[in-house]
Amino acid sequence: MPHSTLTVGNVEITVLHDSEVALPFIRTFPDVPRDAWTPYMERYPDAYTKTATGEDSLRVHFECYLVRSQGRVLLVDSGLGNANSNPNVVEMIGGGIDGVLLSELEKAGFKASDVDTVFLTHLHPDHVGWNVARPAADSADESPTFPNARYVAHEADWAAFDTPRDSEIFGYDWWAQTVAPLRRFGVLDLITGETELTGELTVTPTPGHTPGSMSLIVNSGGEKAFMMGDVFHGPAQVTETDWVFHYDMDPETAGVTRRGMLDHAEQDNAAIAICHHSGFGRVVRESGKRYWQAL
Ligand SMILES: [Zn+2]
Ligand SMILES: [Zn+2]
Repeated sequence: MPHSTLTVGNVEITVLHDSEVALPFIRTFPDVPRDAWTPYMERYPDAYTKTATGEDSLRVHFECYLVRSQGRVLLVDSGLGNANSNPNVVEMIGGGIDGVLLSELEKAGFKASDVDTVFLTHLHPDHVGWNVARPAADSADESPTFPNARYVAHEADWAAFDTPRDSEIFGYDWWAQTVAPLRRFGVLDLITGETELTGELTVTPTPGHTPGSMSLIVNSGGEKAFMMGDVFHGPAQVTETDWVFHYDMDPETAGVTRRGMLDHAEQDNAAIAICHHSGFGRVVRESGKRYWQAL
Protein backbone atom coordinates (compact mmCIF):
# COMPACT_ATOMS: atom_id res chain seq x y z
CA MET A 1 0.00 0.00 0.00
CA PRO A 2 1.47 3.45 -0.91
CA HIS A 3 2.34 5.56 2.08
CA SER A 4 0.33 8.63 2.75
CA THR A 5 2.28 11.30 4.61
CA LEU A 6 0.84 14.48 6.06
CA THR A 7 3.02 17.43 7.05
CA VAL A 8 1.73 19.48 9.97
CA GLY A 9 4.09 22.43 10.52
CA ASN A 10 7.41 20.68 11.21
CA VAL A 11 5.84 17.31 12.06
CA GLU A 12 5.54 14.46 9.56
CA ILE A 13 2.85 11.81 9.99
CA THR A 14 2.95 8.67 7.85
CA VAL A 15 0.11 6.16 7.74
CA LEU A 16 1.38 2.62 8.29
CA HIS A 17 -1.29 0.16 7.24
CA ASP A 18 -1.34 -3.07 9.27
CA SER A 19 -4.46 -4.94 8.22
CA GLU A 20 -8.03 -4.64 6.95
CA VAL A 21 -11.28 -6.60 7.47
CA ALA A 22 -15.01 -6.33 6.74
CA LEU A 23 -17.13 -5.95 9.90
CA PRO A 24 -20.92 -6.07 9.33
CA PHE A 25 -23.07 -3.08 10.36
CA ILE A 26 -25.18 -5.44 12.43
CA ARG A 27 -22.17 -6.28 14.62
CA THR A 28 -20.61 -2.81 14.80
CA PHE A 29 -23.66 -0.51 14.97
CA PRO A 30 -26.57 -2.86 15.84
CA ASP A 31 -28.99 0.00 16.68
CA VAL A 32 -28.59 1.89 13.41
CA PRO A 33 -31.21 0.98 10.76
CA ARG A 34 -29.72 -0.27 7.48
CA ASP A 35 -31.32 2.56 5.45
CA ALA A 36 -29.57 5.19 7.54
CA TRP A 37 -26.23 4.05 6.09
CA THR A 38 -27.23 4.64 2.45
CA PRO A 39 -26.23 8.34 2.12
CA TYR A 40 -22.85 7.62 3.74
CA MET A 41 -22.22 4.62 1.50
CA GLU A 42 -22.78 6.95 -1.46
CA ARG A 43 -20.62 9.75 -0.01
CA TYR A 44 -17.72 7.55 1.23
CA PRO A 45 -17.68 4.44 -1.02
CA ASP A 46 -14.18 3.49 0.15
CA ALA A 47 -15.36 3.17 3.76
CA TYR A 48 -17.76 0.29 3.11
CA THR A 49 -17.66 -3.21 1.70
CA LYS A 50 -19.40 -6.57 2.00
CA THR A 51 -18.42 -9.74 3.79
CA ALA A 52 -17.81 -12.94 1.83
CA THR A 53 -21.46 -13.81 2.53
CA GLY A 54 -22.71 -10.44 1.23
CA GLU A 55 -23.42 -8.57 4.48
CA ASP A 56 -23.11 -4.79 4.29
CA SER A 57 -20.08 -3.89 6.33
CA LEU A 58 -17.65 -1.27 7.46
CA ARG A 59 -14.33 -1.58 5.66
CA VAL A 60 -12.26 -1.55 8.81
CA HIS A 61 -8.62 -0.58 8.44
CA PHE A 62 -6.14 -1.14 11.22
CA GLU A 63 -3.79 1.82 10.77
CA CYS A 64 -0.79 2.86 12.78
CA TYR A 65 1.03 6.14 12.31
CA LEU A 66 4.69 7.04 12.30
CA VAL A 67 5.12 10.54 13.74
CA ARG A 68 8.40 12.43 13.44
CA SER A 69 8.80 15.46 15.68
CA GLN A 70 11.91 17.28 16.90
CA GLY A 71 14.19 14.34 16.17
CA ARG A 72 11.88 11.85 17.87
CA VAL A 73 10.27 8.84 16.17
CA LEU A 74 6.90 7.83 17.58
CA LEU A 75 4.50 5.10 16.63
CA VAL A 76 0.78 5.62 17.30
CA ASP A 77 -0.83 2.24 18.10
CA SER A 78 0.60 -1.14 17.14
CA GLY A 79 -2.19 -2.72 15.10
CA LEU A 80 -3.44 -6.30 15.01
CA GLY A 81 -0.05 -8.00 14.99
CA ASN A 82 0.72 -11.45 13.67
CA ALA A 83 0.06 -15.07 14.60
CA ASN A 84 2.98 -15.05 17.07
CA SER A 85 2.51 -11.61 18.63
CA ASN A 86 -1.30 -11.58 19.03
CA PRO A 87 -2.50 -15.07 18.05
CA ASN A 88 -6.13 -15.03 19.24
CA VAL A 89 -6.91 -11.64 17.77
CA VAL A 90 -5.29 -12.29 14.40
CA GLU A 91 -7.43 -15.45 14.24
CA MET A 92 -10.73 -13.99 15.56
CA ILE A 93 -10.68 -10.47 14.06
CA GLY A 94 -8.01 -10.60 11.36
CA GLY A 95 -9.29 -13.71 9.59
CA GLY A 96 -6.01 -15.51 10.29
CA ILE A 97 -4.04 -13.04 8.18
CA ASP A 98 -0.88 -11.50 9.65
CA GLY A 99 -0.63 -7.72 9.81
CA VAL A 100 2.14 -6.02 7.82
CA LEU A 101 3.12 -3.11 10.08
CA LEU A 102 6.80 -4.04 10.33
CA SER A 103 7.33 -4.30 6.58
CA GLU A 104 5.41 -1.04 6.06
CA LEU A 105 7.68 0.61 8.62
CA GLU A 106 10.71 -0.66 6.72
CA LYS A 107 9.32 0.57 3.41
CA ALA A 108 8.93 4.00 5.02
CA GLY A 109 12.67 3.88 5.78
CA PHE A 110 12.63 2.98 9.48
CA LYS A 111 13.57 0.00 11.64
CA ALA A 112 11.74 -1.15 14.75
CA SER A 113 14.79 -0.06 16.75
CA ASP A 114 14.38 3.56 15.49
CA VAL A 115 11.05 3.98 17.33
CA ASP A 116 11.57 5.75 20.67
CA THR A 117 7.93 5.92 21.78
CA VAL A 118 4.89 3.71 21.16
CA PHE A 119 1.82 5.75 22.06
CA LEU A 120 -1.18 3.45 22.58
CA THR A 121 -4.46 5.39 22.11
CA HIS A 122 -6.13 2.66 24.19
CA LEU A 123 -5.53 -0.94 25.17
CA HIS A 124 -8.09 -2.76 23.01
CA PRO A 125 -6.84 -5.95 21.32
CA ASP A 126 -6.63 -4.41 17.83
CA HIS A 127 -4.35 -1.52 18.87
CA VAL A 128 -1.62 -3.37 20.75
CA GLY A 129 -0.92 -6.31 18.44
CA TRP A 130 2.75 -5.73 17.64
CA ASN A 131 3.80 -4.69 21.15
CA VAL A 132 5.61 -7.94 21.93
CA ALA A 133 7.70 -10.20 19.70
CA ARG A 134 8.06 -13.94 20.17
CA PRO A 135 9.39 -16.63 17.80
CA ALA A 136 6.23 -18.75 18.14
CA ALA A 137 2.78 -18.13 19.61
CA ASP A 138 3.47 -20.36 22.63
CA SER A 139 7.08 -19.29 23.18
CA ALA A 140 8.16 -17.84 26.52
CA ASP A 141 11.01 -16.10 24.70
CA GLU A 142 9.39 -12.65 24.61
CA SER A 143 10.82 -9.19 23.99
CA PRO A 144 9.52 -5.72 23.08
CA THR A 145 9.10 -5.51 19.29
CA PHE A 146 10.38 -1.92 19.50
CA PRO A 147 13.45 -2.51 21.66
CA ASN A 148 14.37 1.14 22.29
CA ALA A 149 10.85 2.43 22.92
CA ARG A 150 8.91 3.50 25.96
CA TYR A 151 5.29 2.37 25.62
CA VAL A 152 2.77 5.01 26.76
CA ALA A 153 -0.81 4.18 27.78
CA HIS A 154 -3.47 5.45 30.19
CA GLU A 155 -3.63 4.01 33.68
CA ALA A 156 -7.45 3.74 33.46
CA ASP A 157 -7.21 1.25 30.60
CA TRP A 158 -4.64 -0.79 32.50
CA ALA A 159 -7.06 -0.86 35.43
CA ALA A 160 -10.03 -1.75 33.20
CA PHE A 161 -8.42 -4.69 31.42
CA ASP A 162 -5.80 -6.08 33.77
CA THR A 163 -8.26 -8.52 35.32
CA PRO A 164 -9.39 -11.86 33.94
CA ARG A 165 -13.05 -10.73 33.96
CA ASP A 166 -12.55 -7.60 31.90
CA SER A 167 -10.06 -9.05 29.47
CA GLU A 168 -12.59 -11.80 28.73
CA ILE A 169 -15.17 -9.29 27.36
CA PHE A 170 -14.18 -10.22 23.83
CA GLY A 171 -14.22 -13.96 24.41
CA TYR A 172 -10.50 -14.43 23.85
CA ASP A 173 -7.34 -13.34 25.56
CA TRP A 174 -5.02 -10.71 24.16
CA TRP A 175 -3.79 -9.07 27.33
CA ALA A 176 -1.36 -11.77 28.40
CA GLN A 177 0.29 -11.78 24.97
CA THR A 178 0.38 -8.06 24.17
CA VAL A 179 0.12 -5.74 27.17
CA ALA A 180 0.93 -7.54 30.40
CA PRO A 181 4.53 -8.35 29.29
CA LEU A 182 5.31 -4.62 28.86
CA ARG A 183 5.25 -4.12 32.60
CA ARG A 184 7.55 -7.12 33.18
CA PHE A 185 9.96 -5.68 30.62
CA GLY A 186 9.90 -2.33 32.50
CA VAL A 187 9.07 -0.35 29.34
CA LEU A 188 5.50 0.76 30.15
CA ASP A 189 4.69 4.35 31.19
CA LEU A 190 1.13 4.63 32.50
CA ILE A 191 -0.17 8.20 32.47
CA THR A 192 -3.34 9.75 33.86
CA GLY A 193 -3.86 13.12 32.19
CA GLU A 194 -2.68 15.54 29.55
CA THR A 195 0.99 14.78 28.83
CA GLU A 196 3.53 16.42 26.55
CA LEU A 197 5.53 13.92 24.47
CA THR A 198 7.50 16.56 22.55
CA GLY A 199 7.13 20.36 22.31
CA GLU A 200 4.80 19.70 19.34
CA LEU A 201 2.92 16.60 20.55
CA THR A 202 0.51 16.39 23.49
CA VAL A 203 -1.68 13.46 24.48
CA THR A 204 -5.06 14.32 25.91
CA PRO A 205 -7.72 12.08 27.47
CA THR A 206 -10.69 11.35 25.16
CA PRO A 207 -12.65 8.80 27.23
CA GLY A 208 -15.80 6.84 26.46
CA HIS A 209 -14.77 4.18 23.96
CA THR A 210 -12.61 2.93 26.83
CA PRO A 211 -12.03 4.76 30.12
CA GLY A 212 -8.39 5.47 29.21
CA SER A 213 -8.76 6.38 25.54
CA MET A 214 -6.47 9.23 24.51
CA SER A 215 -5.80 11.30 21.40
CA LEU A 216 -2.56 12.79 20.15
CA ILE A 217 -2.72 16.52 19.45
CA VAL A 218 -0.12 17.72 16.94
CA ASN A 219 0.51 21.47 17.08
CA SER A 220 3.36 22.84 14.99
CA GLY A 221 3.98 25.99 12.94
CA GLY A 222 0.41 27.19 13.40
CA GLU A 223 -1.07 23.91 12.08
CA LYS A 224 -2.86 21.18 13.98
CA ALA A 225 -3.78 17.52 13.61
CA PHE A 226 -5.76 15.27 15.94
CA MET A 227 -4.93 11.54 15.96
CA MET A 228 -8.05 10.17 17.57
CA GLY A 229 -7.80 6.38 17.75
CA ASP A 230 -11.33 4.99 18.22
CA VAL A 231 -13.16 8.23 19.08
CA PHE A 232 -14.81 7.72 15.66
CA HIS A 233 -15.52 4.47 13.82
CA GLY A 234 -15.65 5.67 10.24
CA PRO A 235 -16.53 8.97 8.58
CA ALA A 236 -20.33 8.66 9.05
CA GLN A 237 -19.93 9.25 12.79
CA VAL A 238 -18.56 12.76 12.11
CA THR A 239 -22.16 13.59 11.12
CA GLU A 240 -24.03 11.00 13.20
CA THR A 241 -22.28 11.63 16.51
CA ASP A 242 -24.93 9.80 18.53
CA TRP A 243 -24.61 6.50 16.64
CA VAL A 244 -23.32 4.04 19.19
CA PHE A 245 -20.46 1.73 18.29
CA HIS A 246 -21.07 -1.69 19.84
CA TYR A 247 -17.77 -1.83 21.72
CA ASP A 248 -17.92 1.66 23.24
CA MET A 249 -17.67 0.93 26.97
CA ASP A 250 -19.44 4.17 28.03
CA PRO A 251 -21.53 5.28 25.01
CA GLU A 252 -22.76 8.51 26.59
CA THR A 253 -19.27 9.74 27.44
CA ALA A 254 -18.05 8.58 24.01
CA GLY A 255 -20.68 10.84 22.39
CA VAL A 256 -19.70 13.84 24.51
CA THR A 257 -16.03 13.27 23.63
CA ARG A 258 -16.82 12.89 19.92
CA ARG A 259 -18.76 16.16 19.76
CA GLY A 260 -16.11 17.99 21.80
CA MET A 261 -13.31 16.85 19.51
CA LEU A 262 -15.32 17.86 16.43
CA ASP A 263 -15.86 21.34 17.91
CA HIS A 264 -12.10 21.71 18.42
CA ALA A 265 -11.21 20.24 15.03
CA GLU A 266 -13.60 22.60 13.28
CA GLN A 267 -12.44 25.68 15.21
CA ASP A 268 -8.77 24.89 14.60
CA ASN A 269 -9.23 23.62 11.02
CA ALA A 270 -7.25 20.59 12.21
CA ALA A 271 -6.46 17.53 10.12
CA ILE A 272 -8.02 14.43 11.70
CA ALA A 273 -7.12 10.76 11.63
CA ILE A 274 -9.04 7.79 13.04
CA CYS A 275 -7.52 4.37 13.33
CA HIS A 276 -10.11 2.34 11.44
CA HIS A 277 -10.50 4.57 8.37
CA SER A 278 -7.70 5.14 5.91
CA GLY A 279 -6.00 8.49 5.38
CA PHE A 280 -6.59 11.95 6.83
CA GLY A 281 -9.63 14.20 6.84
CA ARG A 282 -10.96 17.56 7.88
CA VAL A 283 -14.34 18.61 9.28
CA VAL A 284 -16.47 20.56 6.81
CA ARG A 285 -20.01 21.94 7.03
CA GLU A 286 -22.76 21.49 4.47
CA SER A 287 -26.33 22.69 5.07
CA GLY A 288 -25.61 23.03 8.79
CA LYS A 289 -24.28 19.47 9.16
CA ARG A 290 -20.69 18.41 9.75
CA TYR A 291 -18.98 15.92 7.44
CA TRP A 292 -15.63 14.20 7.04
CA GLN A 293 -13.76 15.47 4.00
CA ALA A 294 -10.79 13.38 2.91
CA LEU A 295 -7.52 15.26 2.45
ZN1 LIG B 1 -11.10 0.17 20.46
ZN1 LIG C 1 -10.14 -0.31 17.41
